[in-house]
Amino acid sequence: MDYPATSRSVTRVVRMIEVKERMREFKDALRRYTHLLKGGKIDLEKSVKIEEIELSLIEDLLKNQPVICRSRRDLQDLIGDLLDSGWIEEAMRKTSEGLNVEIDGDPKEALEAFLTGNVEKPEGKIALLVVQAIARCLAESKLEDNEIVEEITPICPVCGAESKTMVLERDGYYMVCPFCSYKWLVSRDKIRCPYCGNDNPVSLGVFSDRARRLGLVVCQECGATWRLVIDKSIKAPRILLPVISLGAEAYRQFIRDEMVRKPGGQQTTNTVVEGGGEEA
Ligand SMILES: [Zn+2]
Ligand SMILES: [Zn+2]
Repeated sequence: MDYPATSRSVTRVVRMIEVKERMREFKDALRRYTHLLKGGKIDLEKSVKIEEIELSLIEDLLKNQPVICRSRRDLQDLIGDLLDSGWIEEAMRKTSEGLNVEIDGDPKEALEAFLTGNVEKPEGKIALLVVQAIARCLAESKLEDNEIVEEITPICPVCGAESKTMVLERDGYYMVCPFCSYKWLVSRDKIRCPYCGNDNPVSLGVFSDRARRLGLVVCQECGATWRLVIDKSIKAPRILLPVISLGAEAYRQFIRDEMVRKPGGQQTTNTVVEGGGEEA
């Protein structure tokens, strides 16, 4: 039998108690960093509501489905098993109640519609939140077990979503998935393009303001751009980092200007955008 070790179970109990703490961190981070979005808006109330629902689904998965949710799993298989066990049906019911959204028809059909790309109907959106909670649970289990993939790619190894968010941590440059919040290592000592692998500083431009909190990176080898959370003092739940990084979109216009001024691109590395200073 494949039951989790006692130490894992204890970890999980501790983590369930932490849900309240995690909500507090989530709200704090939203309050503290939304100014970095520089005019970009997020619906705070709705974000908090959705996070509450997803964390309670994650908690429920860890409590009631620990054997199914072990870390060495493929997301597709996990969804299949949770569908068979009836967990997804129940989760969709709870989620629609939590959001006060009626779902018509069979939750299984709604999930299938979502998995085949139909997120227009309210059922599709409910299914999206449930699948996101499952993917986040899997990503957290993998990270807890130190299953960190080292790969040059913008595509999340856990859920397949594309990430445009890179985060500088103590030991390297990680991509963070906007859907499941898994992180994977792209490079250790210097920035590397997650699309083509280019790590030549001459052809990688980082546009940021003087505070150097967020940056927008452009690779002149392949033309890709992505956002970089430079400031290691930004402490937020990982699921929020892709949202916070959107503040770097403010520098996109400067990339265009720079490209026009320097066709072929030379020495754009670490460009500081004048006048793009931090708002209080
Ligand atoms: Zn992912
Ligand atoms: Zn590139």
